[in-house]
Amino acid sequence: MVKTKALTEHIFRGTPVSGGVAHGVVRLVGERFEEPIVRRIPSKQLKAEWARFTHAVESTRLELQDLMQRLDGDADRSAREILEMHLLVLADSMIQEPVEKAINEQHECAESAYYRVARECMNSFQRMPDAYFRERALDIRDVAQRVLRHLRGEQLDKAGHEKPAICIAHDLTPSETAQLDRTKVLGFAIEHGSKTSHTAIVARSLGLPAVVHLHGICEALHTAEHVLLDGDDGLLILNPTEKTIAHYKARELKAERREARLNLDCRAPAVTLDGRRITVGANAEFVEELKHIQDSGAEGIGLFRTEFLYLENPNASEERLSKVYCKVVQTLSPELVIFRTLDLGGDKLDPANAVEKEANPFLGWRGIRVSLSKRDFFKRQLRAILRASAHGPVGIMYPMVCCAQEVIIANQLLAECREELAQLNVPMADTVQVGAMIEIPSAATIADLITPHVDFFSIGTNDLIQYTLAVDRVNERVADLYQPTHPAVLRLIKNVVAASANKKIWVGMCGEMAGDIVLTPLLIGLGLDELSASSGQVPKVKHAVRKLNTIECSELLQQALQEPDAAKILRMSADVAWRAYPELFEE
Ligand code: PEP
Ligand code: MG
Repeated sequence: MVKTKALTEHIFRGTPVSGGVAHGVVRLVGERFEEPIVRRIPSKQLKAEWARFTHAVESTRLELQDLMQRLDGDADRSAREILEMHLLVLADSMIQEPVEKAINEQHECAESAYYRVARECMNSFQRMPDAYFRERALDIRDVAQRVLRHLRGEQLDKAGHEKPAICIAHDLTPSETAQLDRTKVLGFAIEHGSKTSHTAIVARSLGLPAVVHLHGICEALHTAEHVLLDGDDGLLILNPTEKTIAHYKARELKAERREARLNLDCRAPAVTLDGRRITVGANAEFVEELKHIQDSGAEGIGLFRTEFLYLENPNASEERLSKVYCKVVQTLSPELVIFRTLDLGGDKLDPANAVEKEANPFLGWRGIRVSLSKRDFFKRQLRAILRASAHGPVGIMYPMVCCAQEVIIANQLLAECREELAQLNVPMADTVQVGAMIEIPSAATIADLITPHVDFFSIGTNDLIQYTLAVDRVNERVADLYQPTHPAVLRLIKNVVAASANKKIWVGMCGEMAGDIVLTPLLIGLGLDELSASSGQVPKVKHAVRKLNTIECSELLQQALQEPDAAKILRMSADVAWRAYPELFEE
């Protein structure tokens, strides 16, 4: 029966969020701490069930020891302490003994016995008044996730031994994505997620196909099964036939030719037909993207999301951080690199701070709020960026700004950092550009009050849309309501551009909207100076800009601002785009 399934082509349909096609084997990834299904174990299998459990514990122990061995001396001391704690939790008889009892006396399967005992243990730690003990709940959860994964027979791509594969997951948190060995990933197929979820963003940055909303795939697929992932049409094809594979090969060839044509002039500036120059930068998360970015013709990095490097190594020292930042700046110099200071919180939970679960993390302790309440931690990052500024043009921008005071305080801390480094004779640039991300409606509304404190604005539409429309950017149920062309969003952007023009500072956009070539006519009409998109989109955005005329785009915007229907505004922009650069929409 298994054999029949393995030979039958089966198509799962989802939502495409990053284009391209990948063909390979499946790897189920991502830690899960979900209640397993309870299975009754017959008496004669109890011994084998207990052996299965001890084997999973042993595999977890080896995994943790392997991780410890790969830590980097003193720099990773606190990571070592965490892993030592995890080894203690793993061997704890307080957990092991009740599991053994539940298997042998209640005939409960190892997964559910272990999950139940670990959960009870976590709950009692979580109720303790002392923060130190509450944090132990996280250690238990971390260890339990690993053991449960081994019990499910899933593999983790941390050892780096596996072949490249298509990652299948319920949902991947940014920290899980950050910790994957990305050289072993061919694409992402996700049950949940959304276009602006960070896994989708990372996939686009890495130029990998990704499809979300693929319901039931984690149940239906198994590690090492053969699949084809179509990131353009949102399909995951299990056991593709020869005919299907041939069809996709032909399509891929066509796409490669189209891309090669586009790349011919990707290094030329993006100037509209009537002479308006738009800077087109790239968004980045990881150092390994730099080559792609250089090849894309991007004019610098308009948004470096530093939290992904942080999640890879939360305990990195200032020296180590600055070493990575320097590499980015040196590689891109003389182009500008804008580092966004840490935007932890929301879906990018910092494992070290995730103990107090927030009911609404997107409305909670996030971005600049975290940085301003952990000032030493914030200053460590600011100093690391300032150190990197000795090697090329650098900008710093603050995420999730909601009022001018936050920028004022952040700037004071930046000045302190500069002073501290100067006293140590550390070389750095005399000036770095400082900007605020505009991604909260309050900031967009009072942009004129923030302009005195910044050199530029960068509009983060991924969040600006979700906060303006009260639509969670990763909630599939309300995905239809997530409308970039909603008149309220356009008016807020217009307000930010007007405030920038008054103060003669530049204004860019780094949300996913900036890379959507259907919207380029509207964005030019809005008067943005810079667009920063995933490197794969950069040649297309530059090409689109070159085919547009600012007068026509301004007229489009004027009409759009009179129009209440977001879908109609989208069609109006699409009409202009189709007329101006049909070649970019060819199949
Ligand atoms: C945004 O909100 O548009 C943005 C660029 O930041 P992020 O997607 O990382 O939240
Ligand atoms: Mg954001």
